[in-house]
Amino acid sequence: MPDPQGFLRYERQLPKRRPVPVRIQDWSEVYPPADDELIREQATRCMDCGIPFCHHGCPLGNRIPDWNDLVRTGQWQFAIEQLHATNNFPEFTGRLCPAPCEAACVLAIAGGQSVTIKQVEVEIINRAFDLGYVTPQPAPEPSGRSVAVVGSGPAGLAAAQQLARAGHAVTVYERDDEPGGLLRYGIPDFKLEKRHIDRRLTQLRAEGVGLVTGCAVGVDLTVEELRQRHDAVILAAGALAGRDMPDTPGRRLAGVHLAMEHLVPPNRVVAGKQDSVDIDAAGKHVIIIGGGDTAADCLGVAHRQGAASVTQLDLYPLPPRERDESRDPWPCWPWILREYPAHEEGGERVFAVAVQEFVGQERVRAIRIAEVTVVKRDGRRQVTVVPGTERELPADLVLLAIGFEGTEEGPLLDQLGLARNPRGGMDCGPDWQTAVPGVFVAGDMHRGASLIVWAIAEGRAAAAAVHTYLGGDGVLPTPVDPAAVPLTAP
Ligand SMILES: Cc1cc2nc3c(=O)[nH]c(=O)nc-3n(C[C@H](O)[C@H](O)[C@H](O)COP(=O)(O)OP(=O)(O)OC[C@H]3O[C@@H](n4cnc5c(N)ncnc54)[C@H](O)[C@@H]3O)c2cc1C
Repeated sequence: MPDPQGFLRYERQLPKRRPVPVRIQDWSEVYPPADDELIREQATRCMDCGIPFCHHGCPLGNRIPDWNDLVRTGQWQFAIEQLHATNNFPEFTGRLCPAPCEAACVLAIAGGQSVTIKQVEVEIINRAFDLGYVTPQPAPEPSGRSVAVVGSGPAGLAAAQQLARAGHAVTVYERDDEPGGLLRYGIPDFKLEKRHIDRRLTQLRAEGVGLVTGCAVGVDLTVEELRQRHDAVILAAGALAGRDMPDTPGRRLAGVHLAMEHLVPPNRVVAGKQDSVDIDAAGKHVIIIGGGDTAADCLGVAHRQGAASVTQLDLYPLPPRERDESRDPWPCWPWILREYPAHEEGGERVFAVAVQEFVGQERVRAIRIAEVTVVKRDGRRQVTVVPGTERELPADLVLLAIGFEGTEEGPLLDQLGLARNPRGGMDCGPDWQTAVPGVFVAGDMHRGASLIVWAIAEGRAAAAAVHTYLGGDGVLPTPVDPAAVPLTAP
């Protein structure tokens, strides 16, 4: 029985972050490991509600009150078993998830302070690795069936692990030189050190998952060859086509780049894969266009590179700091100001502005912006410039972090004869199967650019569907029904 008074005795408290002046000198994670006492106190705040709304907030249906209570009583091994029951990779979500579970926590009602669920999660998996509780779980016997997974992000890896544990021979094909998807070279080390991916890959390999890197399906291996080799295919190739601003005057000036062109090289330098970066913010006035995860990552990288100044521009007005109950009542995901650790490190945020022009001769030297109002009509965004509000901001480096169009078009889709839907994703039926029999889809490639927690949830669900398709006995859990997936959820 959990402690019914815990939330009255303990305030919500996050572990201390490393000091800003120290952490911007390196690429290591912002949060150092937290001590047992703090985490057990924080887990004690969980009330084990009769209806645990946190479950419903979590796309994975994580059994949050169960593992909170196991942490409270110091039973770390049982806690990781409960956590792993629904989530293959809590070391990724515990570090990176925006935590819709916390927004849905009963303690968050009426502006209250939710349980620090995400922090408890990451500390469970940290200890589980340290204490040797994370071991390979190979299938008792092979099924004799074989599955290809295209793409090694969280969706592909979750699907691969589920299927390998059910006895299928799984091979993941990845075009990058290392597996991990956006977690490997998109997300910076200060959010996720890559040793966490490598440690998990060791487990996957020991469970029999084959990982083939440097292999772009459609280019290095045709879809026909792939289908001859395997009984089923899961597409988990992400939504990596970056959104651009091709019609804005000056877009082709030197110094204006897509965010990923700026984010990938430092990750490769930290990994020892290359010596230096071409796009360096050192000493520059940097403008980041966009307000999401990618923009915050560009901000953190620019500070670590020694930018002279960083300004982040957002089309939308400044959100409220607290949930607006009339707009997003609890337990919905609220529209509020999101502050990432990168924002603590410096920079200015400007809201309700749109870029009118990138200004310069050959290189960008400024951007011209104007204040705007944004309204949604019939689901479409209408942006109106406020007359007389145009101004210039100095800019030596401009980074476009305005989202992703969807899955990249090219040989993979052409050879499958599949096309993107209007959201940029790939359609599938209730069994996660695309229009091509035996070819399934999961993660960002299905839903468009989204979150790691959704990628894992969809990878698990697609794996369960493939298992059934291959005549399996239905032992794999199906946490998500594609028809029920709210595509607008966080
Ligand atoms: C900069 C950035 C920061 C982010 N931060 C967060 C965060 O903090 N929290 C969060 O929850 N989410 C975050 N996200 C989103 C999250 O990373 C994605 O939602 C998630 O990685 C999607 O997983 P996936 O497996 O579907 O695809 P991906 O991770 O995109 O992996 C797809 C993989 O497929 C490979 N591939 C593509 N085509 C082929 C082919 N033809 N053959 C072989 N391989 C192929 C790609 O190389 C890639 O490795 C962030 C995204 C970005 C860009």
